Amino acid sequence: MPPPNTGIPVLSPTPDPVTPDRDITHRHFQPREEVLVLKGIARGRLWGRSMRVVTPSWHTPTDKDGWRLRDPNGGRQTYITAHPGYLAHATGHCPDCLIYLHAMEEHSLPEGPHGADPVDCGWYTTTALGQLVHVADTRGGQ
Ligand SMILES: [Zn+2]
Repeated sequence: MPPPNTGIPVLSPTPDPVTPDRDITHRHFQPREEVLVLKGIARGRLWGRSMRVVTPSWHTPTDKDGWRLRDPNGGRQTYITAHPGYLAHATGHCPDCLIYLHAMEEHSLPEGPHGADPVDCGWYTTTALGQLVHVADTRGGQ
């Protein structure tokens, strides 16, 4: 699931009811693990941003324990803080995260855009303070 390396993905907002329903604990992740944050669809497959877990960090948009992440290709946003529910182990060996990735595929691929070009499904935004926020967590004013 490599991130696209050409151009800027087109934004095409697509619903994601899977991520907000996910039941995953903060302790599911550990420092130095490689994780993915799903961004969208390219060539009929999910793609995401690959990052490394750095250290525990408070996720203010949800008022929950989160994780500080480092993106080696992140530029101005090298470090962001995410809720654990936004993350999936990138190794492909974690059953919980594989279930999540499969659920995202089953939901998103049939409904999502179908071109070869990478599409950003608009599931996440990043605040000026480096907090990653899922679209479902931007509602409700927290
Ligand atoms: Zn996992």
